[in-house]
Amino acid sequence: MNSSNNRLCKECNQPILYGRKDRKFCSAECKSAYHNKNYQIKFRNKAIHEKIIQNNYHILKSFFKEGKTVIRKSSFDELNFEFNYFTTIYRSKKSIYFFVYDIGYAPIIDHNGIRKLLIVEYQEYMKTYRFDAWRNIK
Ligand SMILES: [Zn+2]
Repeated sequence: MNSSNNRLCKECNQPILYGRKDRKFCSAECKSAYHNKNYQIKFRNKAIHEKIIQNNYHILKSFFKEGKTVIRKSSFDELNFEFNYFTTIYRSKKSIYFFVYDIGYAPIIDHNGIRKLLIVEYQEYMKTYRFDAWRNIK
């Protein structure tokens, strides 16, 4: 008996009739339905978010040097830095800084858009800053 006869789609449980031996889904639709569902479940898992924060922190730490360091945004992307994840914000007159714990970055904007980030260490004076996340709510 051909082992391919035993393969069932992980989403709809129908036999998988063609494709590679390790194929898990009968169609692209089933594959994306399955992954979308799993993503919802994953997103509810606290450990997943903590892992993202840890990864972001690890990346920032590895880029950080005393003084000011400028790093290409593409280097962050290559390491799967998640820009939606940070622990606090500081805003100066010129820039906005996104921190993960004590290390953060400020996007540097030039005529090409944002291609580089300035890496900085959290400073005592930044504590007094209050970010008004609700400013744009009407
Ligand atoms: Zn299917």
